[in-house]
Amino acid sequence: MNYCKKCLQPDTRPDIKFNNEGICYACIYEDEKKNIDWDMRKDELQKIADWAKSKNRDYDCVVGVSGGKDSTFQAFYAKEKLGLNVLLVNCEPDCLTEIGKYNIENLINHGFDCIKLRQNPRILRKLTKSAFYKWGNPIKPSEYPLYASANKVAINFNIPLVIQGENAALTLGVSNGLGSDGNALNVNKGNTLAGGNAKDLLVDSLTEKDLSMYQYPEQDLFMQKDIKGIYLQYYTKEWSQVGNADFAIARGLRGRSTESLYDIGRYRRYTALDSDMQILNQMIKYYKFGFGFATDEACYDIREGRLSREDAIWYVEEYDGKCGEKYIEDFCEYIDISINEFWEVVDSFVNKNLFFKDKYTGRWIPKFKVGVGIV
Ligand SMILES: [Zn+2]
Repeated sequence: MNYCKKCLQPDTRPDIKFNNEGICYACIYEDEKKNIDWDMRKDELQKIADWAKSKNRDYDCVVGVSGGKDSTFQAFYAKEKLGLNVLLVNCEPDCLTEIGKYNIENLINHGFDCIKLRQNPRILRKLTKSAFYKWGNPIKPSEYPLYASANKVAINFNIPLVIQGENAALTLGVSNGLGSDGNALNVNKGNTLAGGNAKDLLVDSLTEKDLSMYQYPEQDLFMQKDIKGIYLQYYTKEWSQVGNADFAIARGLRGRSTESLYDIGRYRRYTALDSDMQILNQMIKYYKFGFGFATDEACYDIREGRLSREDAIWYVEEYDGKCGEKYIEDFCEYIDISINEFWEVVDSFVNKNLFFKDKYTGRWIPKFKVGVGIV
């Protein structure tokens, strides 16, 4: 296990790229950003917005929203800066939290039309359970409709533009067919969806028709209907994790203000607000790849100059991979398994090159030191 020399990006992240000097591509992009002509990008973006308006449809653009920090920023930006008539599309996550409910209502109440979609909860629960056993990733099924829904609404309602947030190829430094530009219609090529074919998720008792909400649309349909998809992050200098959070907080976003940071496995309180399962999923990710969400947060903070690499290591060591017992209990109850069975499944996904099991406590102990590698 090696880390980027500038940030704390580990080479265990799937599809991650490093240059010959051991610098990750997210850091390289951060440097390149200094040379980007942002005024030119802004003009390009305004041209796309004007093109969408010229189509003269009921809505100019679709923004897929959870009501969280990034989607709040996107929705306001589209409406107020670009002057677009926005239709929000909200796909309800598995086990929506009270804060999540509050935040999506808060966003809509700022003055947006919104279509809310919800998958058959019995099917979703089946898929969640199966994904936990098959990939050690219980939120994988909920991500399919999340990415597909805004595009499907655009196709079916003849809306010319879909505005997405972040291009992971740029901000995480991964290479997997996403492309490093502003085009977001191939969002299904990223690691999360790996194609976006709903049949990947199929379990015995279900048919492909049961999973139609999970299916990413055919690329041809975007061409036929002349629909553009863009990443706002590519076009706007203002885009940043912390900046978006500040922006959204000022507009009423609520965070996980009362929970212990040790329970949420991160040191900022404005991510993973609408489902507790994301926290549990980050813990499993930590055991699979040796890093969790605190590493992602720390990397952003290092790159954007808020933390030194040395100080960031403290945060990562303190919070990465942590998950409150309550979230584990809730999840086990939800998919109807025992806590013991939960840990048996998680244990089977633990990367034994990165962790060893303490024979007295039964806990997994890292063999690596954050920022250094295997010791
Ligand atoms: Zn880096």
